[in-house]
Amino acid sequence: MGDVIQLLPDSVANQIAAGEVVQRPASVVKELMENAIDAGATKIQVILKNAGKAFIQVIDDGKGMSPRDSRMAFERHATSKIACAQDLFNIRTMGFRGEALASIASVAEVEVRTRREEDELGTYLFIADSELRNQENISCPRGTNMLVKNLFYNIPARRKFLKSDTTEMRNITTEFLRVALTAPQVSFSLVNNDNEIYNFPVSGLRQRIVNAFGKSLNAKLLSVSCETGIVSVEGFVCVPQHSRKTYGEQYFFVNNRFMKHSFFHKAIVEAYSGLISADMIPSYFLYFKVDPSIIDVNIHPTKTEIKFQDEAAIFQILVACVKEALGKFNVTPAIDFDTEGMLDFAMPSSSVLPKIPKVSYKPGYNPFNYATSITKEDSDFERPAARPAGEVAHAKTVPSNWDALFAGLEEKQTDTQTVLTEMQAEALAGESHIAFVQLKGRYIVTPVHSGLMFIDQKRAHERVLFERYLEKLAHQQVSGQKSLFPETLELSAEDFMLVKDILPDLAILGFELGEFGKNCYAIYSTPPDLSHSHGREVLVSLIEHYKNTEGSIRDKMQERVAFALARAAALDYDEVLDNQEMSNLFDSLFACRYPNYTADGKTIIHILKNEDVASWFK
Ligand code: ADP
Ligand code: MG
Repeated sequence: MGDVIQLLPDSVANQIAAGEVVQRPASVVKELMENAIDAGATKIQVILKNAGKAFIQVIDDGKGMSPRDSRMAFERHATSKIACAQDLFNIRTMGFRGEALASIASVAEVEVRTRREEDELGTYLFIADSELRNQENISCPRGTNMLVKNLFYNIPARRKFLKSDTTEMRNITTEFLRVALTAPQVSFSLVNNDNEIYNFPVSGLRQRIVNAFGKSLNAKLLSVSCETGIVSVEGFVCVPQHSRKTYGEQYFFVNNRFMKHSFFHKAIVEAYSGLISADMIPSYFLYFKVDPSIIDVNIHPTKTEIKFQDEAAIFQILVACVKEALGKFNVTPAIDFDTEGMLDFAMPSSSVLPKIPKVSYKPGYNPFNYATSITKEDSDFERPAARPAGEVAHAKTVPSNWDALFAGLEEKQTDTQTVLTEMQAEALAGESHIAFVQLKGRYIVTPVHSGLMFIDQKRAHERVLFERYLEKLAHQQVSGQKSLFPETLELSAEDFMLVKDILPDLAILGFELGEFGKNCYAIYSTPPDLSHSHGREVLVSLIEHYKNTEGSIRDKMQERVAFALARAAALDYDEVLDNQEMSNLFDSLFACRYPNYTADGKTIIHILKNEDVASWFK
C-alpha cells in the first residue's frame, strides 16, 4: 500500500476550525462585533433575521480594509493584530488569532462591503465555501459591513442543532451585552426581524449598565475603584438587596475582555458575607486592568476563563475593595427611626370609636390536640381572627415544637418533630400579646417573648402572597378575573416568544392571554389579586425578570412568576392597617414556610432584643 496521508483542502480545515469558533449565531455576532471594536468603530449596528439563522449583519464605521486586506482577512491565521510570538504576551485587541473570518466563511455565505477613509471606492466581496466568488469596486460608506447568511447551510447536521429562535436570541443578547459593556464610548444597536432589542448611545459606563439592565439599577450601583501594583479594579457592585437567587448580572472584564472567573466570584461573595443569605448571588460589573503579560488569554478560542499570575493576591484585593464600596454605603440599616428621634405612631384618632373586640370560641377546642386543627384556608389574610384570649392560635396552622416553646409547662407535647424557625417560635411564644402598632405606615410592631418585633408590612404581605401563588402553581388552580375591555400588550418579537413559553404558567395564575396581531397579546383575564391595569405592568416586569436570568428551569420560572405577581399585588406602605388587619397579616406571615425573608432575600422581621432595651437604661 502506498502513502495514505494527505493535506486537507483549506475549506475542510477551516470547517474543522469553525467547529471551535463558530458554534451558533451568537458566536458570529461576538466575533464580528469584536472586529468592529478592534477597527476603532464608534457606531456598531447588529441586524439579524430569525435570530441570526437567516442572516447576521454587523455594520461599523471603523477604519475599513484595503481591497487586498479584505481578501486576506478570510485566510486562516490572517491577522493584522499580531506579527510575532512575542506579541502574544501583549495583546490589547479583542481578536488576535486570525481565525474568525476564515471559520465563518467556511460555514456560511459572506458578503463584505468595506472602505477605508483614504480610498475613494470601497470593495465588495462574496465568499462561500471558503472561496472568493466575486469581487467588485463599489461605493460605500467608510467602515465595514459584514453580512453572514445561511449559517451552516453546508453542514446540515450542525444547522439541525440550532435551537429555537428564542434560545438563539438569548445567547445573542448575552454576547451582545458582554461586548457592549466593554465599550460605552461606542454606540450599539441590536435588531432582530425589524424589532429593536437594544439601542445604546455613547455614554459613560454607569449609563451603559443602566441602559442594558434597566433604570431601576441606577440607584443600586455602588462604585468600586482601586489601584494596586498588580491590578486596578474599577466598576460597580450592587447593593445587597439587589442580589438574586439566579445568575445574571455578574460581569468581570479584564483589559476590556469579558471573562468568567469562579475564584474571583468567590471573592465578591465573600465581601457580601453577612449581608446576604448564602443562596443569593450579588450583582457586579468589575473591570480589571492588568499588564497583559500576567494573564493568559490563549487557553481556548471561545473559552472565557482567563488565568492570572498571583490569583490569591488579587482575591484579597477584590474582597477589600468590594467591602469598602459596601461600607461606604451603609448597608446594614437598622430600623429606620425618624431623624429627629421621634416615633411617628399611627394612632387611631379619638373621633373613631375603638372596635369592640369580637370574642368567640369553640367549646370543644383543645389547643394541644392537632386533630382539631383548622385548615390552611382559615389562616388566610382575610380571615377574621376570632379567638379566645390566650388561645395558641398559630399552633393550629404551624406544627410547633412545644418543648422548646413552652418548657416548664406541665402538659408537654412530644410527638411533633418539626423545628420552627426562630422567628416562628418567637411569634408563638409572644402569643399572649393582643396589641399591634403600625409605625410610620411601614412597620407592624408587636411585643414578643424576647423583645419587640418589627415587621415590614409590604414585605410580609409579599411573602404571604408569594407562597400562596406558588401553591396555586403547584396545584394548578385557575382563577382569573375576566376583563371587559381587554388591554393589549405589544412586545418585541423576542419577548413575544418568551411569553409564549410561559403561557401555561400564566394561565394557572389567572393570566389569560390571546395572540392579538403581530407580536401583540390581548389580556383577557388577570389574577384576582390584581387590578386589570396592574396586570399589564406585572407582565412587563415579569418578562424583564425572565430575560435577565439565565436558564429556564420550570420551577424557577414559576417562582419568578409568583414573585413578580406578589410584588405587584402586595399592599403598599402608608396603607393604614387596623389591629385586626395587622393581626391577620401576622397570622398569615407566620403560617408561611419562610417568614423571615422575601423571595428576593430582603429582611421582613427584626426583633429589638429585651437586653438591648435594658442596656439603654443601665
Ligand atoms: P482577528 O480578529 O483575530 O485578527 P479575524 O478573522 O476576526 O481575526 O479578522 C482578520 C482580520 O481582518 C483582522 O485582523 C482585521 O485586520 C481584519 N478585519 C476584520 N474585521 C474587520 C472590520 N470590521 N474592520 C476592519 N478590519 C477588519
Ligand atoms: Mg476577530
